[in-house]
Amino acid sequence: MSEHTSVLIIGSGPAGLTAAIYSARAQLNPIVIEGEPSSTTDQPGGQLMLTTDIENFPGFPEAITGPELMANMRAQAARFGADLRVTKVQKLDATSRPFKAWLTDDVEPSITADTVILATGARSLMMGVPGEERLLSHGLSTCATCDGFFFRGQDIAVIGGGDSAIEEATFLTRFASSVTLVHRRDSLRASKIMQDRAFKNEKIKFAWNTQVVEVLGDEKVSGMKVKDTISGEERVLDVTGIFVAIGHIPNTTLVTGQVDLEENGYVRTGIGSFTNIEGLFAAGDVQDHVYRQAITSAGSGCIAAIDAERWLEAQGH
Ligand code: NAP
Repeated sequence: MSEHTSVLIIGSGPAGLTAAIYSARAQLNPIVIEGEPSSTTDQPGGQLMLTTDIENFPGFPEAITGPELMANMRAQAARFGADLRVTKVQKLDATSRPFKAWLTDDVEPSITADTVILATGARSLMMGVPGEERLLSHGLSTCATCDGFFFRGQDIAVIGGGDSAIEEATFLTRFASSVTLVHRRDSLRASKIMQDRAFKNEKIKFAWNTQVVEVLGDEKVSGMKVKDTISGEERVLDVTGIFVAIGHIPNTTLVTGQVDLEENGYVRTGIGSFTNIEGLFAAGDVQDHVYRQAITSAGSGCIAAIDAERWLEAQGH
């Protein structure tokens, strides 16, 4: 038999947990499907589990670590009675109400829900070149704040030309001997202030018009084959660490083909957190490709909980 809830929250980053705090306090007894721990963390909690100090989340003048912030949000949601579960939604049927969610591969749905708040976040985009997947976590990383420390005194590379790449490259100069920023064009996409900071940093070198062809190494990264996009010439860059920072991709698998997406694949929300499906709300990085901050994500989780509560009330629930 399926269990029924008025609010099903999928995701446990700042958006999902803030939605949980608000809907639990509104006595809606939300069920939160938190997801499962990633390969680098022992807890779900989204991308903040991969960061160290967060200095810009208001209320923490001395900074707080990502995992600590998520543990606090989780405890706060639990305190008000949110039902938090460390597991994954395998399948979601949002085509008719109540919505149906499967946590197993049974025929019967595990949960039926009057509303769903989708807060499944986003993940790092990968280059898709040979060697990349095999050497992930063996010298190739998507998170400078998690792994930078391991590259002390080494020559490493950061791939990308946006704010993330510049931020990571700048941060990594604390540890590495040199950081080569490998960018496929001859100008950066990053904001001017971040660019200026990088240009002034003597440890950052730039490989312009350069595309990664292959990540080299047996057990761990030993270099990278790159190609000049203008001359077509290939060469090997001797680096022992590679950080991929080429953007993010929203986690929309559960709703693809059901809900309207933007051209870039993010869930389209109208006013507040409303999607084109009545009763289905979206919050956080799964629908925000612009701001992508912990605080904006938490704010949109709050909006989604209020939207869901008012929508339920209007439906007479
Ligand atoms: P982004 O702005 O989309 O930049 C991605 C970069 O990766 C671009 O330079 C792009 O090259 C390059 N790229 C994309 N696919 C590639 C591929 N397959 N191979 C090689 N290079 C590839 O992503 P982001 O830097 O993650 O930033 C996303 C958003 O978050 C932005 O709005 C940004 O301002 C914000 N953000 C802000 C901060 C901050 O303010 N502290 C920090 C991080 C992120 P092209 O330039 O040629 O397209």
